[in-house]
Amino acid sequence: MFYTVIKRVPIFVVPVAILIATWFLIPHIDGLTPAQRELVVISPYLLTALGMFVAVHFHRGRPFMALLLLIVFYWSSSTFLSGEQIEPALSPVYQAFVILIPLNMLLFTIMRERGLFSTAGRLRFIFLAVQAAGAVWLFRYHFTDVIPYIAGGYTGLPLFSGFLVPQPAMVVGAACFTAITLLALRRQAPIESGMLGALVAFFIASNWLINRDIHAAYTAAGALIVTLSILRDSYNMAFRDDLTGIPSRRSLNESLHGLGRNYTVAMLDVDHFKRFNDTYGHDVGDQVLKVVAQKMMGVGGGGRSFRYGGEEFTILFAGCRVEDALPHLEELRKAIADYRMVLRSGDRPKGGKQGRVERGRSAGRTGAQQVSVTVSIGVAESGENLKSTAEVMKAADKALYKAKNKGRNQVSR
Ligand code: GH3
Ligand code: MG
Ligand code: MG
Repeated sequence: MFYTVIKRVPIFVVPVAILIATWFLIPHIDGLTPAQRELVVISPYLLTALGMFVAVHFHRGRPFMALLLLIVFYWSSSTFLSGEQIEPALSPVYQAFVILIPLNMLLFTIMRERGLFSTAGRLRFIFLAVQAAGAVWLFRYHFTDVIPYIAGGYTGLPLFSGFLVPQPAMVVGAACFTAITLLALRRQAPIESGMLGALVAFFIASNWLINRDIHAAYTAAGALIVTLSILRDSYNMAFRDDLTGIPSRRSLNESLHGLGRNYTVAMLDVDHFKRFNDTYGHDVGDQVLKVVAQKMMGVGGGGRSFRYGGEEFTILFAGCRVEDALPHLEELRKAIADYRMVLRSGDRPKGGKQGRVERGRSAGRTGAQQVSVTVSIGVAESGENLKSTAEVMKAADKALYKAKNKGRNQVSR
């Protein structure tokens, strides 16, 4: 459990690095010339514009909305809340933003990506406009009624003292932070982690509103984090297989160039997969491919796994001879063969058309059905007579056929 969480944490590396770097850069703003300081003040606008351009280009509605929220807050706070004479805690604009922005960020994180100018995309803009109108109405006519609730201090705990953000907004923000963190860990998606970074950046920017340097720097950092998450997401789309989440054929083609002189290639193919699909349906077939891919990512010996296409996969062992790779491949083959996937009742085959595939054993009293697959693996290494990667892959493919002919569920060279 702990290990699974640790393996999922790298998704946060970029946002955390930018947030920390910003913290270290802020003291240096003091030493800048007035012209350079001016640049710091407008940097959130520049970075947001860039990010929005990227979002439009890649049809990414959710990060676009996050950028919009960040920049509307920045613009409003520099327009309505500038100057020391205004007490932000008593400003309706401030109160509305610190509560509504985290909630909206969470909402946009939960939502599916539906593009920017699609009907769903346009509805989001209307949704924001309605909120803004609602907030204006509430605060214009009922501000004195609601302010004790939203700006109130409910507890005197030292944890909460010293923050500009009022306690109710902090609780809302913390809840949104937790929910987005869990979503990002679960989905392992860059946009989600970008949203989390943007939320943290927003919190810092709104809490240190009086300090214009911190305010500008963290709004800019938030915009940068979101923009990078869009780029990372697009990179993943190109180089990661959509179904299994492991590196794709395109990624394999690039990795083949950097292998060096000595390397081993393994080709892996699921046995009788067509029959499996016919028996249990394509959806269960997809689930099985995900399991196989997940097991492959855990292969030892420094092997890197790719989905070659369909139910075929490739593993590259750089700087490794066949003898060294074989035990790891054998271990992988066994791990896949031993794995039992439990079918939910909705996934079970209907009627009696079971084909020639024997039904998996029943899992005890629950009656849940279990299925399993086996794989055949062919291995080849670079050498005197096999110089190009294409030749080595061809040899691995030949070895794979050998494994199939010898009865499947085995590793062959
Ligand atoms: P063999 O043991 O000889 O490899 O038999 P096989 O049935 O696995 O071989 P074949 O290449 O004839 O069939 C591969 C099947 O894999 C055909 C296709 O229906 C299925 N397949 C390919 N890609 C996918 C996918 O993304 N999802 C699912 N569910 N099935 C896929
Ligand atoms: Mg095949
Ligand atoms: Mg097959």
